[in-house]
Amino acid sequence: MTNNGILLYAEVNRQDYIHTVFFELANKARELSQKLENAPVMAVLFTKPGMLDDYKEGFTYSGIDKVFVYEDERFEKYSTETYANLIINLIKEIQPEIFLIGATNQGRDLAPRISSALETGLTADCIDLDINEKGMLAATRPTFGGQLMATILCKTKPQMATIRPKVFKPTNENIHTETDFIYKPVKSEDFIDNVQLVEFIKGIEDVKNELDSAEVIVAGGKGMKSEEGFEMLKELADLLGGTVGASRGAVDLGYAPHTIQIGQTGKTVTPKLYIACAISGAIQHTVGITGSDHIISINNDPNAPIFDVSDTGIVGDVFEVVPKLIEILKK
Ligand SMILES: Cc1cc2nc3c(=O)[nH]c(=O)nc-3n(C[C@H](O)[C@H](O)[C@H](O)COP(=O)(O)OP(=O)(O)OC[C@H]3O[C@@H](n4cnc5c(N)ncnc54)[C@H](O)[C@@H]3O)c2cc1C
Repeated sequence: MTNNGILLYAEVNRQDYIHTVFFELANKARELSQKLENAPVMAVLFTKPGMLDDYKEGFTYSGIDKVFVYEDERFEKYSTETYANLIINLIKEIQPEIFLIGATNQGRDLAPRISSALETGLTADCIDLDINEKGMLAATRPTFGGQLMATILCKTKPQMATIRPKVFKPTNENIHTETDFIYKPVKSEDFIDNVQLVEFIKGIEDVKNELDSAEVIVAGGKGMKSEEGFEMLKELADLLGGTVGASRGAVDLGYAPHTIQIGQTGKTVTPKLYIACAISGAIQHTVGITGSDHIISINNDPNAPIFDVSDTGIVGDVFEVVPKLIEILKK
């Protein structure tokens, strides 16, 4: 088995922060590296001059062994072709075993271009990663409309995958790695401007969504029966210092906005406490919540599948249980 390491894409967002998904990937990559004879964990970064000092701690504290740094004013604006070409050349040079990218808008844009240029496989939108007994990346993603989970192996190198934000957690250890920062030369001809960014219009994804950082989420399903049902959940969430989420069943019926939908076609969440109210527990919903520390479910059907993924189950009517909880918390 060769040991050229795991390369991660360190995406810088519009606010000049490294995207949180990078730190989630860094933590997972360190775990994978142990199964690959401690293969080095590396990152590739495109940045404006003068920013690296701000980023250094993030790399050393998340256990990155080596960072390939491309620095130039022109990296202020993301360019698919420029970034992809530089990454393709870097991969040809260092030949990593594995290349992982966050399944963000940018990552989803870059990854297929890189994989097709390198004639290698790409497993997109993964929700889990492992190393199998043959030392290959085993990338898991939902398939057949979320009815099944498929674990996909890639026979070519690098083995590439994009991973949804929030499926892994960043490290909570205090790692301090001796990270090597390697400046890569950038030439004028590296900048390709066949496509130019004219204007950026903020979309719904860019609006800060409380679900990303909430420690407590009270989510409702179809069984909440109306928007008023969600008002009751909001009251409970407020008392717990949390926020409200919803299943697609509730969103489709207009009880809650799509921005708070959780699951395969919504958000993946990782709160300390997730309270599922009148949600049946379809796999398309539960894939988005299994990173929660503790799941409490309230459902009047004792056989509801949501109980299979819950730490605590309450069999009962939400319209009786939730008001009781609110009453107790108010006291
Ligand atoms: C491609 C695809 C993508 C999808 N993506 C998502 C996604 O991102 N997120 C998502 O959530 N779903 C998604 N779905 C839909 C998913 O399959 C389910 O249909 C959906 O999650 C069901 O929502 P629900 O649990 O609210 O409704 P239901 O399945 O109808 O469940 C309602 C539950 O409420 C309980 N209940 C009713 N009344 C009460 C009461 N008074 N007290 C207590 N319990 C009560 C019932 O027992 C039942 O278990 C997707 C489906 C497909 C095909």
